[in-house]
Amino acid sequence: MVGEGRQLTLIQPDLCVNGVWDVDLGKLREAGITDILIDIDNTIAPWGGYEIPPAVVDWLERAKSLGFGVCLLSNNFASRVEHFSRRLGVPAVCGWVKPWPWGFRRALSVLGVEPGRAVMIGDQLFTDVAGAKRLGLMTILVDPLSERESVYTRFKRRIERLMGRKRPGERMP
Ligand SMILES: [Mg+2]
Repeated sequence: MVGEGRQLTLIQPDLCVNGVWDVDLGKLREAGITDILIDIDNTIAPWGGYEIPPAVVDWLERAKSLGFGVCLLSNNFASRVEHFSRRLGVPAVCGWVKPWPWGFRRALSVLGVEPGRAVMIGDQLFTDVAGAKRLGLMTILVDPLSERESVYTRFKRRIERLMGRKRPGERMP
């Protein structure tokens, strides 16, 4: 059915990588991308943790110095999100924002960018990827930084696997 096909393509990211450090900023630029929306939990920091791995900090600093706009987009609570916003010197949109269009639209308007010029980077198919694809953003799926996750997320992981998501390390080069 046509409808089913459309639903499936919503959870097919444009690119899968081990972590943000593997995202080639030059290629993003070549693809016409000017701005980056990025998830926090298990994308730039382990779930529940406040430390950002050096490879992630380096990549984000490089993106900023190349002129990319960066906005954090997280369903987590404000005080946690503000920590990362301050630490990285980038704006953030948080609350119950993904996979809903209003959350993505708010982040796009913070950056002043059209959906077709932005990429969403995150570790979850149903929140990060599907929500962004519905609005026409490019999407990049990363492996989760840690295996620690909420009960709710672990449940969604099982569905992701049923939908064909590979486990970290199973991906072909
Ligand atoms: Mg996440």
